Amino acid sequence: MRDEYDLDTLAVRAGIQRSQFHEHSEALFMTSSFVFDSAEQAAKRFTGEEPGNIYARFTNPTVSMFQDRLAALEGAKYCVATASGMSAILACVMGLLSAGDHVVASRAIFGSTVQLFNNILKRFGVETTFVSPTDVKEWEAACQPNTKLFFAETPSNPLTEVCDITALAEIAHRHGAWLAVDNCFCTPILQRPLDLGADIVIHSATKYIDGQGRVLGGAVLGSKVLMEGVYQFLRTAGPTLSAFNAWIFLKGLETLRIRMDAHSAGALALATWLEALPQVARVLYPGLPSHPQHALAMRQQTTGGGIVSFELKGGKAAAWKVIDATRLLSITANLGDTKTTITHPSSTTHGRLTADQRAAAGIQDGLIRIAVGLESIEDIKRDLQTGIDLLP
Ligand SMILES: *Cc1c(COP(=O)(O)O)cnc(C)c1O
Repeated sequence: MRDEYDLDTLAVRAGIQRSQFHEHSEALFMTSSFVFDSAEQAAKRFTGEEPGNIYARFTNPTVSMFQDRLAALEGAKYCVATASGMSAILACVMGLLSAGDHVVASRAIFGSTVQLFNNILKRFGVETTFVSPTDVKEWEAACQPNTKLFFAETPSNPLTEVCDITALAEIAHRHGAWLAVDNCFCTPILQRPLDLGADIVIHSATKYIDGQGRVLGGAVLGSKVLMEGVYQFLRTAGPTLSAFNAWIFLKGLETLRIRMDAHSAGALALATWLEALPQVARVLYPGLPSHPQHALAMRQQTTGGGIVSFELKGGKAAAWKVIDATRLLSITANLGDTKTTITHPSSTTHGRLTADQRAAAGIQDGLIRIAVGLESIEDIKRDLQTGIDLLP
């Protein structure tokens, strides 16, 4: 149905497989294995001669429905769902790379992704060079004959730097590498990396795809050939998505459009308000004309998204004062929830970096990140105003 219908329709209806009971809402198949009509059928399933379910580490109908729906939304041939966003990245690299391969990755990617490349893959002979998210010349210069993968995340966390997906895809392909984009912040509603030239899309479904902060999950999407490697790793090693979590995500996708539109509208209103405050040194939001890559962001995304960061002139003391004065916002590092969250990156998500590394990464002590939820934006502003009023 994917070529025939708009994204809004695909989000609600793509991938549905009905059982013999003709249920209207997608069924949750809580079963770890499947039975066969005969010994012969079992044998045929195992050789792959006959398609069908065998065991939930390999496939489950609820998980398949989620995979097919997300694939339709991203415009991907194939989707492999995983137990978390991190296991999606793990399955991608374990499925596609070998010892001796080289990765070029943006410096501004999720903290655990940096650890995965730096501390774990390195032990298996895969080396990673980290480069600027915004300077494409650094990506080109980092390429080696053994470079197999470019890894980008855009917009970045928490500085909302924007990678030029089309330019990175062109460089990657010229060097015989694939481009993978972690599309967690935008979701296919705001940005479709495959349309822009990327080869692989990664998701932490834990964030906006669930959208209500309940369960963990992830996905890797791309061509049949690439995803075959990812799937073989998954079915053997086992970081498979649970059917229950897949069912949550299927329902999450149905409201993704209206939620992303509301998160984005709230974030733009908040960013505009923050920019006018005298206590605020700078606001980082791709939807603001003052953002250094505003034009690029508006070319590859439909809105600026739901994450706003801002830096207070008063440094860490001011940031903590504003955070501690909130009564409504949740002080937590999570994002993509209906409930607005507030984070002090330099002492939490980026606290393991040294002061010099943080300075090099542009994470100032006065920086606050807000993942705008679905509450009234006036209430969110009032909650922040309480602490801002305490500042000199
Ligand atoms: C949260 C997150 C991840 C990791 O996802 P989990 O579901 O927590 O494993 C990866 N990338 C980005 C951008 C994230 O925000």
